[in-house]
Amino acid sequence: MTVKIERAIEILNPAHREHYESIEPVDEACRMGIAALLYRVRKKPEYLPAHPAPALACKRCGSVKHLHNADGAQNAFCGQCGQAIDWTDAAETDA
Ligand SMILES: [Zn+2]
Repeated sequence: MTVKIERAIEILNPAHREHYESIEPVDEACRMGIAALLYRVRKKPEYLPAHPAPALACKRCGSVKHLHNADGAQNAFCGQCGQAIDWTDAAETDA
């Protein structure tokens, strides 16, 4: 079953009332909500010891160059996939 994002938002709205013919779209909207919220759960970057120099990568998409902004500062979210990044205890390198 495919549920469009706008439809999932409608279904997930507690104020929305509808008599559903099937629970499937509700289940799918819930799964979509969970998947979206998981992007907000901060994940520690993955340490790559040889990339070709040591580097940190996004655990979700593997991006190395989108974890920092143009000034080299750590992004709160991966610039490629949007995953929230947990920088606590991250072994930063100057690679
Ligand atoms: Zn990413």
